[in-house]
Amino acid sequence: SSEIKSTSPKLETGVVSSSVSRPRKVAAQKVSVNSRTGPSLRSQGNNAPTLQKPAQGSGGGHDAKLVEMISSVIVDRSPSVKWDDIAGLEMAKQALTEMVILPTKRRDLFTGLRKPAKGLLLFGPPGTGKTLLAKAVASESEATFFNVSASSLTSKWVGEGEKLVRTLFQVAISRQPSVIFIDEIDSIMSTRTENENEASRRLKSEFLVQFDGVTSNSGDLVTVIGATNKPQELDDAVLRRLVKRIYIPLPDANARRVLLKHKLKGQAFSLPDIEVERLVAETDGYSGSDLQALCEEAAMMPIRELGADILTVQANQVRRLRYGDFQKAMTVIKPSLQRSKWAELERWNREFGSN
Ligand code: ADP
Repeated sequence: SSEIKSTSPKLETGVVSSSVSRPRKVAAQKVSVNSRTGPSLRSQGNNAPTLQKPAQGSGGGHDAKLVEMISSVIVDRSPSVKWDDIAGLEMAKQALTEMVILPTKRRDLFTGLRKPAKGLLLFGPPGTGKTLLAKAVASESEATFFNVSASSLTSKWVGEGEKLVRTLFQVAISRQPSVIFIDEIDSIMSTRTENENEASRRLKSEFLVQFDGVTSNSGDLVTVIGATNKPQELDDAVLRRLVKRIYIPLPDANARRVLLKHKLKGQAFSLPDIEVERLVAETDGYSGSDLQALCEEAAMMPIRELGADILTVQANQVRRLRYGDFQKAMTVIKPSLQRSKWAELERWNREFGSN
């Protein structure tokens, strides 16, 4: 069975540092703001694209700040996640390789009918590795990774969300190949109309306009990856654009085994294989992040038993983790996804999913 390596961020090999060597990189300070036409992003280098799309109605002033914010907050400098870091999800990995990674490596082969999809959706229960997959895609394709939380677009950037989306796409184009990852995409792209205000309607349509912009320009290597655990709430217009929809299910027994063994690495434990198999069977319904929480809770059990001795005990005297610790932890850490939600996602996958 495959093994998982540490996913600790390695700044020196992060996608952004790899894009630094590219002549097309646009630094925040190279952005000039024209109060009439909005930001103009100029890249340097001979065949570098020059971006001067006017930003209608932007009002100017904040754009340089926005570009800088995007570069510092939204550009994720740590996604040196490799395929092997992700347990299971073989089908998703294969689909993403074909859709995003190979086309960036062999642009000549992926033209015409083989033109890669620009938009895809990862949907499934929370904590199942959607973010990890998007990061792996970015790092395997050496793309700049823009990590956007859609809910923060509506909360933190009230009123500015629309301008942020526009600037985000401009920066992504200038730093391509780029992957724009939009977590919780349902929170900005849902069909819910009751309390939809003017600002969120504008944000939605700006997103569609920008998305169509990168789609219609076949030279742009910008991929939008949306993630959601409520795909049924997505607006039709968005769904149409996210043509490939990949279901990221809860980990199966094999994936849970790999995950559990990985989490136990570096811990003192006495769990014969037969008990590991019991744990694998008993954690049916647990997501990757539920398993993480379960192992953390179990690991605390020997520590709690120490009482006042915790201050004096030698680290190597702490007793090993055993099956009973996990059993106890399971009474506290339960699967976070309700069965009914799970069934709903499976249904949606059968009707709209690509796999
Ligand atoms: P989401 O699907 O909500 O985006 P994440 O990708 O953020 O989930 O995963 C949350 C955490 O759970 C990860 O940081 C990782 O520790 C763990 N995890 C979930 N699924 C997997 C997996 N398939 N392989 C390895 N770790 C996983």
